[in-house]
Amino acid sequence: MTAAPLLAVAEPADARPSLVGLDRAELAAEVARLGEKPFRARQLWHWIYFRGTTDFAAMTTIAKGLRASLAERYALARPRVVMDQRSVDGTRKWLLGLDDGCEIETVHIPEENRGALCVSSQVGCTLTCRFCHTGTQTLVRDLSAAEIVGQVMLARDALGEWPSPKDGRLISNIVLMGMGEPLYNYDTVAKALRVIMDAEGIAISRRKITLSTAGVVPMIKRVGEELGVSLAISLHAVTDEVRDRIVPLNRKYPLAELMAAVRDYPGASNARRVTFEYVMLKDVNDSPADAKALVRLIAGIPAKVNLIPFNPWPGAPFECSTAAAIARFARIVNDAGYASPVRTPRGRDILAACGQLRSASERLRKSAVRGAAVDTPASPLG
Ligand code: SAH
Repeated sequence: MTAAPLLAVAEPADARPSLVGLDRAELAAEVARLGEKPFRARQLWHWIYFRGTTDFAAMTTIAKGLRASLAERYALARPRVVMDQRSVDGTRKWLLGLDDGCEIETVHIPEENRGALCVSSQVGCTLTCRFCHTGTQTLVRDLSAAEIVGQVMLARDALGEWPSPKDGRLISNIVLMGMGEPLYNYDTVAKALRVIMDAEGIAISRRKITLSTAGVVPMIKRVGEELGVSLAISLHAVTDEVRDRIVPLNRKYPLAELMAAVRDYPGASNARRVTFEYVMLKDVNDSPADAKALVRLIAGIPAKVNLIPFNPWPGAPFECSTAAAIARFARIVNDAGYASPVRTPRGRDILAACGQLRSASERLRKSAVRGAAVDTPASPLG
């Protein structure tokens, strides 16, 4: 059984603007506004993003007077923790409250000697993929860079991972596989990732970051060129007919266009394979013919295929494929030379699953529903 969820008492939002989430140029501008020299911005960067300092008073390389005027004007705020849940298997999920009352979730999935943080890019999601509960939520907005970076800062706080460790990190990887479609919030996600990747700060390198998209084709090239992070594609079907139905975005960007964009993805190589995520839906996309078509579809792409057993939710119009069907599917893909791991459920007891973020916490709070079976995101670590 999990520890009981911790319900935090709502605190009034800090009226001071937070410096968390600012990039180097913005921080420099704030420092200049105070009439300070540019090197102060570099010092601040170090305290905020390398050391994770939450109190200006602790910034001992900075003159006392400046510390005081910084503290008067600014905060170093993280998102507010509304609920903090731990699974028996170590998976941990935070429900975070934002200043406007919206809520998002962030999930830490530990593995031996490493761990992934599953980060949200939007409140809710507009994509309405048929198998995803997040897509049934009505409230949707983009997250700010501060709210995206803040998820990482908060997780680092909670796991005691400051200053940025050289190695042996609990958060070694970041996957943009939480709520939302990151490529519908590209500019902000890009800005947040640049802050997160900066080698003198949080310093999680682009090799350890995976951006997952349902297939916003025009943006995929930019991800490769401008960010160079690993790419994951939520594929889920191998014909336009099926994909149109279960991933409606396919009607806008059909498979041929999507696959062309993936083939051209800058930096894709055997050392840096593209990940295809494939949710196993009974009698929808799980036949041997589907597996063979998948192999043909991705031929020549340095790729691996994550097979995700479908996480059911109340009213979902699908069932999870049988274990035998999943194994049969995996064998065909694997025999064709592609790694095709089947993801074992984790964090079942805390509702931390792919496609269930936020909605699960709403349910939990409404009626204290217990025991719903959920899985953690597939292959956070690649
Ligand atoms: N919008 C982006 C980021 C979300 S990633 C994207 O689509 O890639 C979340 C992953 O969980 C996606 O691969 C999604 O297809 C998968 N998923 C959604 N609902 C699920 C469910 N009920 N069971 C298993 N996986 C699910």
